[in-house]
Amino acid sequence: MQPLESWGRYPKARQAAVSVHWRTDPLPRVHGTLLPFGQGRSYGDCCLNEGGTLLATSRLDRLIEFDPGRGVLRCEAGARLGDILAFITNLEHAGDIVEKGLIAAASKRLKRGLSFSVEGQAEIRTMLERLAGNVQAAAAVFMTQDARAARGLLREKEVFRDMEARATEAHFARIRAGRVESVETSALHLDVLRDMKRINAHLAAAAYPVLENLGELLPSRHRSEAAVNP
Ligand SMILES: Cc1cc2nc3c(=O)[nH]c(=O)nc-3n(C[C@H](O)[C@H](O)[C@H](O)COP(=O)(O)OP(=O)(O)OC[C@H]3O[C@@H](n4cnc5c(N)ncnc54)[C@H](O)[C@@H]3O)c2cc1C
Repeated sequence: MQPLESWGRYPKARQAAVSVHWRTDPLPRVHGTLLPFGQGRSYGDCCLNEGGTLLATSRLDRLIEFDPGRGVLRCEAGARLGDILAFITNLEHAGDIVEKGLIAAASKRLKRGLSFSVEGQAEIRTMLERLAGNVQAAAAVFMTQDARAARGLLREKEVFRDMEARATEAHFARIRAGRVESVETSALHLDVLRDMKRINAHLAAAAYPVLENLGELLPSRHRSEAAVNP
């Protein structure tokens, strides 16, 4: 473990450190005093324990429960407000795209009395159903910080990229075949596909902090993705 220090890096202390991984773990037996250490953001010496031991709590970063009625989120001591805000901000961006993109497109379509082609509707429905599943998956990753679930959620970005590309290709094939409903709704259809991909990207972002903590993220993308497309 890296030597632990305060934000101001002063004063320096000679101290041991042990990390706690589960909130149910018993406290380690140490000689001398044991002091909890969070993110080490305090300026002075209040998080230092000269001659004793620090109990590093940053791995205790799980969320325990959320009560939507009271708006109360219970979490472990090492959960970071920045991660919580990042998730909420991503959900807000996804909500904005629903409101300004998908709902606006639906109302334009109704006002102009247009219909998507049957195949186009089916493609959109499949993507919407997958998106609804990913909302649940993102919430589960956020709450549990489960690594496997986070990897699965991040893979959904690729799945959505492929789904959007295939649906776009199929849409252009229908236009080439002279299908009137596809020509009339072309711009709307492409907007809806792109918006669903953008919403999914915001949901998939719930995986980043989990994978970052595990060292599985490169500065710009996931390691496994980079291995496939070096
Ligand atoms: C740039 C900057 C801006 C800041 N702005 C503000 C501000 O606007 N408002 C404000 O109030 N503060 C501010 N601070 C201070 C800072 O927010 C707090 O000192 C810091 O957040 C404390 O959290 P920590 O996890 O880093 O605690 P640490 O520094 O690791 O520990 C602080 C104290 O809490 C104890 N502790 C840590 N974890 C636990 C635990 N799980 N159980 C029991 N005790 C524990 C430690 O033993 C220690 O005594 C700022 C700090 C910086 C560096």
